[in-house]
Amino acid sequence: MRAAVFREVDKPLTIEEIELDAPGPQEVVVRTAATGICHSDLHFIEGKYPIATPIVLGHEGAGVVEAVGSAVRYVQPGDHVITCNSIFCGRCERCLRGQPHLCAKEGITRTDADPPRLRDRSGERIHQFTDLSCFAEKMLTHENGVVKIDPSVPLDRAALIGCGVMTGVGAALNTARVEPGSTVAVIGCGGIGLNAIQGARIAGARRIFAIDRVAGKLELARQFGATDTVDASAGDPVAQVVEQTGGGVDYSFEAIGLKQTAEQAFAMISRGGTATVIGMIPVGEKIEIHGAELLSEKKLQGSLMGSNRFRIDMPVYIDLYLQGRLKLDELVSQTLPLERINEGLDALRSGELARSVVVFD
Ligand SMILES: [Zn+2]
Ligand SMILES: [Zn+2]
Repeated sequence: MRAAVFREVDKPLTIEEIELDAPGPQEVVVRTAATGICHSDLHFIEGKYPIATPIVLGHEGAGVVEAVGSAVRYVQPGDHVITCNSIFCGRCERCLRGQPHLCAKEGITRTDADPPRLRDRSGERIHQFTDLSCFAEKMLTHENGVVKIDPSVPLDRAALIGCGVMTGVGAALNTARVEPGSTVAVIGCGGIGLNAIQGARIAGARRIFAIDRVAGKLELARQFGATDTVDASAGDPVAQVVEQTGGGVDYSFEAIGLKQTAEQAFAMISRGGTATVIGMIPVGEKIEIHGAELLSEKKLQGSLMGSNRFRIDMPVYIDLYLQGRLKLDELVSQTLPLERINEGLDALRSGELARSVVVFD
């Protein structure tokens, strides 16, 4: 099968013919229909998060089940699925507490001690990314890494739910639990930020501030539910939000992954407010806040994959999409064949587009 392989930091991915193992007892092979290019993939390509190479990245996929292992009962060949890297064991303490996105994944996902699942033509090991590796014609994953969906939903739309929608909408609905009538600010209006905005709209927030430096993204943010826009290139966004809300918002979301914007997210919440950092802050960077501000019960928290229980959340999002209450079509800025995946990565670097989606024939 063909795959886009990441071999060297800051070099283009190479399209190669590689080999994939047959599924183990609890595994499935999914023929990839579409996969979104997420900023997290770029973090690894840019070397901000170290990772073993060569590797096939990609973690926002959807496709059709092609083969299942002997013990798989949840899906069968022909089922349409979204993949999710929140693969859960269903046995550990976090899973049993209802936090499967924080699963310890012991004995369920692969490590480098296990034999390779992907190999290049010379037989060299190619690493698998988050047990998914969606930048390939087929994905081999645990059955607890997929959710069955209504086959009437286009897979190039469904794929986006696999990371960006789950992460952004989930941060608003699950992690922060935005209350109806509350005020919200979202810093960064790319794929994740737009989804945090629509999550806040679905939750019933009364004011939603979209903050970005790119005018086109602020425009798009209004379509997703922003009631106010703040151009971060025209002065301090914190001062603007605090002034317009008379003291700060109830909930803020950081959807870029920078120290400065994470600190801004904390600075723009009101007393008792909650700042949620969704973006991936580079390894080793520290965030500084004034300790005394904690006396006003301001909260700073992280969010991983929208605190999902994806087998419950994702079919809900599909329903909301079919009812017109969750936007997916507007998230897709361009579709590309696998051969042009590097163009999608470049678009992400420039920060101009919401989402590029790789589609397979
Ligand atoms: Zn992602
Ligand atoms: Zn678990």
